[in-house]
Amino acid sequence: MPNEGHNTMQGRHFLHIPGPSPIPDRILRAIAMPIIDHRSAEFAALGRHVLEGSKTVFQTKQPVVIYPSSGTGAWEAAIVNTLSPGDTVLMAETGHFATLWKQIATRFGIEVEFIPGDWRHAADPAAIEAKLAEDKARKIKAVMVVHNETSTGATSRIPEIRKAIDAAGHPALFMVDTISSLASVDYRHDEWQVDVTVSGSQKGLMLPPGLGFNAISEKALAASKTNTLPRSYWDWQEMVKINANGFFPYTPATNLLYGLKEALAMLQEEGLDNVFARHKCLAAACRAAVKAWGLEVLCQNPAEHSPVLTAVLMPPSHDADRFRKVALETYNISLGSGLGKVAGKVFRIGHLGECNELSLLGALSGIELGLSAAGVPHRSGGVAAAMASFEGRDHANETVAAAGA
Ligand SMILES: *Cc1c(COP(=O)(O)O)cnc(C)c1O
Repeated sequence: MPNEGHNTMQGRHFLHIPGPSPIPDRILRAIAMPIIDHRSAEFAALGRHVLEGSKTVFQTKQPVVIYPSSGTGAWEAAIVNTLSPGDTVLMAETGHFATLWKQIATRFGIEVEFIPGDWRHAADPAAIEAKLAEDKARKIKAVMVVHNETSTGATSRIPEIRKAIDAAGHPALFMVDTISSLASVDYRHDEWQVDVTVSGSQKGLMLPPGLGFNAISEKALAASKTNTLPRSYWDWQEMVKINANGFFPYTPATNLLYGLKEALAMLQEEGLDNVFARHKCLAAACRAAVKAWGLEVLCQNPAEHSPVLTAVLMPPSHDADRFRKVALETYNISLGSGLGKVAGKVFRIGHLGECNELSLLGALSGIELGLSAAGVPHRSGGVAAAMASFEGRDHANETVAAAGA
């Protein structure tokens, strides 16, 4: 039961963290099937279907491998299959997840040049170009960027970063973490010439946690033949070889693959472009609510506002975690906590995957009521502003008038 732990509360729990995201009933039903022999012809058909189908969401014709792992495993796979101890890579400090990816690379003996960031902006293409242009000796082996920084709600402009790498004429591999953006934000592995795209199942794909993905370019696959970091479980060569027949080198997460098949069908039915437009529309309404409350969105560049989640700064001397606790206990809504440097200072509203206008309005109502219940200073009218945003009305003047009344 999703309500377990809050079982004194009636109705459905509002899970509005930026992943895991709510799982559509259709997917839950698809998963609730008997397990099958993973060496059978029946499994091979499922394997081929999901391995081919996944390529559509990465917008690639190149191999996609699927691990029974969290997204962190897929991060590690990208590193151990392409790099060697002592290699240098370039990363951008967009927030907590970029910091964690850096930590993994460092543990494998990789030197990380970390372009500092203020956690209120996405990766800066100009700064990346400058670093690559400086690297005359071509020491940098990879540029590694988080597409949608889930800790801050800032989305990096991957095509512009691709252009920056090309403008510097640099041969580095390009690796992108799309764990919280895949199937929510437009993303094109082939067109943007990304070498390794890392992803996971529990965010835009609307699945339970437990699948990790790597989409792999020819250049990355070639690098994996000569790099020297040891690996066994994560080895691409073995995986790609056996995947060709629809099988896996070890027991796959069969029931999650049933779910993935259903998720791919749902995304295809809605159409990826519609999925991306829906996320943008929900995010705009959410920001309208935040503005009407008189609170501040953490991400400062409108060109980088995330379609997936909105991180909201608390007024000074108000603790975000106390507010989240009050909202949970009073209105049965889960909001994302601040991570790393912004712990206690922000809360995050997830609006990804199985989310529509009314589910978002429900969540925003819970937040507006929760702000009052927790005694956090704010103006009312956030929910009305979100409704106006859905209707294409400009609510700003009405909101200002209401606040002045
Ligand atoms: C969730 C997330 C991760 C971590 O994935 P896990 O499945 O928790 O290992 C990494 N990067 C980003 C951008 C994420 O949103």
